[in-house]
Amino acid sequence: MSDYIDLKSGKESPVVTFNKKLADVRQKYAKLHKPFDSTCCRLDFKDKLDYAEKESERRHGFIDLAELKIDFGEFDKYADEDRFVLLEDQEDVQDKVIEGSRTQVLIGHTLSYKCKARGHGISVFIPIKEYNEMQKKPVIKDTKEIKEKK
Ligand SMILES: [Zn+2]
Repeated sequence: MSDYIDLKSGKESPVVTFNKKLADVRQKYAKLHKPFDSTCCRLDFKDKLDYAEKESERRHGFIDLAELKIDFGEFDKYADEDRFVLLEDQEDVQDKVIEGSRTQVLIGHTLSYKCKARGHGISVFIPIKEYNEMQKKPVIKDTKEIKEKK
């Protein structure tokens, strides 16, 4: 992937624009404590970019950055609940000294997901307060059942 700013047009390369957008969306879902499949998002973008660059080169003999138009697509689709299988819901404990004695305190939950498309692992930490306030608690579904439905 080419990562540069075109000096002639002063235009950002698609990679720079993409990385900025990706950082924003990642932050958004991190705040929501929801899984976001940034690896698939990157791979799909790379495919689109490779294709656009190849086509540009075929037309001009070089990659004309000024005319590269890449549809980044929908970022939010990489956070679709249907993308993921929840594998584990683990309690996170931390040692704390309370009234002179060491006690294990539950500080939150770590949810481990797997993306169905390519099997990427994604972990999401949910602080205990927010976990307890969740309307719908995460449910680990039988993965066999999911496969059979397809
Ligand atoms: Zn993935």
